[in-house]
Amino acid sequence: MSKNQNKTGSYSFFHCIEKNFDKAAQFISIEKGLLEQIKACNSVYRMHFPVKIGKEIKVIEAYRVQHSHHKLPCKGGIRYSMKVNQDEIMTLAALMTYKCAIVDVPFGGAKGGIKIDPQTISSENIEKITRRYTSELIKKNFIGPGIDVPAPDYGTGEREMSWIFDTFLSLRSGDVDALACVTGKPISQGGVRGRKEATGLGVFYGIRELCHVKEDMYSVGLDVGLVGKKIIIQGLGNVGYHAASFFHESGAIIIALAEREGAIYNEKGLNVSKVFLHLKNNGSILNFPEAKNIKNTEKALELECDILIPAALENVIHKNNANRIKAKIIGEAANGPITPEADEILDKKGVIIVPDIYLNAGGVTVSYFEWLKNLSHVRYGRMEKKFRENVNAEFLKVIETFCKKTISIEEKKMILRGPREIDLVRSGLEDTMINGFHKICDIKKSLKIENMRTAAFVLSINKIIDSYERLGIFP
Ligand code: NAD
Repeated sequence: MSKNQNKTGSYSFFHCIEKNFDKAAQFISIEKGLLEQIKACNSVYRMHFPVKIGKEIKVIEAYRVQHSHHKLPCKGGIRYSMKVNQDEIMTLAALMTYKCAIVDVPFGGAKGGIKIDPQTISSENIEKITRRYTSELIKKNFIGPGIDVPAPDYGTGEREMSWIFDTFLSLRSGDVDALACVTGKPISQGGVRGRKEATGLGVFYGIRELCHVKEDMYSVGLDVGLVGKKIIIQGLGNVGYHAASFFHESGAIIIALAEREGAIYNEKGLNVSKVFLHLKNNGSILNFPEAKNIKNTEKALELECDILIPAALENVIHKNNANRIKAKIIGEAANGPITPEADEILDKKGVIIVPDIYLNAGGVTVSYFEWLKNLSHVRYGRMEKKFRENVNAEFLKVIETFCKKTISIEEKKMILRGPREIDLVRSGLEDTMINGFHKICDIKKSLKIENMRTAAFVLSINKIIDSYERLGIFP
């Protein structure tokens, strides 16, 4: 058994990422020590702090890890889960570094986590814990617009980001850039339109792009295009819900949705917004009318489908179930949902895996837009919307005169419209996801790499080497 394996013979999560990194490193000719520096986690802050919950004092375990400082600030979400541990947070921080490099977001990777179960704690106590965690980060200089900028992740959302901002501001009063200390905030607190759905929308753009590549589709026996593709999604949280909605709207068929308590299945397709409403009203996706319940939620991953989207947690596809996975494409919306052993099995079966370090980068991309908005103190589109509309109106007048034809009011409305914040954010996200996809494919082709994950790592590592070289650290 190697030093990186635990008692059960499986690898630590961090070592899984190191394995992927090492595969890619074979395609990069640079001194080994330099690769080791890129792989290593620069700073790990493990903390314990007391919080009074009811009459009891509870000791809370929490982390913030900054994987790389090759670009600043560091950036990465904060998760609340009982599974939080140092290995997990280090790994997720490393993934953030590689992800940011792929989509040209100028941040180093970071991640945070608090070991709590938000489903069993009152919101007052979650607020107490979040505020205390933020003040611990401030004390150690682990948060700030130019230092380290958290965002939502598993178990956290706009509400927690608001509390983080408010705590930061109260301890750093007068900091004109304080809004940029955290992203994923509500719009009224400096958030950007389009952030909430960004990761899911990015997943949709990435998979849509793949479905338009003829050779890839033919290699797995599928037709080109997304319409009619049968999709299974695991996790109906922020990422899974939005991804499912965009797939559904685009004409793909969501045949199964899996949550903690079980999964639901309908070969003809599920209406995602109706399922979400059912979940909200009943606290469970089970017993949705016109769908079959699947008690063992993990079994949903093994159903016949074209595309499988794990959007919940890591390591859900492992050596024990990989052989039973029937999907032809797996889109990693969650971070690290496939273990390296499973990855090899699926690779041999010819499954196309769209890797997390690319596919779920939509969240950090739009977080970057939010950070820029906060630093510039102006909403996207505010300066140019009316100007564009006026120019478009003039342009339309010229066309109407020239063609001697009047354009209908409906068409006019569409053509005259100046860009709103949401339009700019979505177009920036779409462009980023399309570019990222093709850059990975170009590397895959030119270096004759067999899978997208290794090609994505090569792209990312090369970009990080480049910025270290420009910093003058690597001679
Ligand atoms: P979330 O907390 O909003 O949703 C997670 C969902 O998964 C919840 O509905 C939960 O009930 C469900 N779930 C938990 N265990 C499950 C199980 N065993 N089977 C099926 N469903 C289960 O979290 P999220 O923000 O959507 O994050 C999901 C994944 O995406 C995580 O891996 C996260 O790191 C990654 N991610 C999130 C973002 C983001 O912007 N939120 C960005 C990049 C990556």
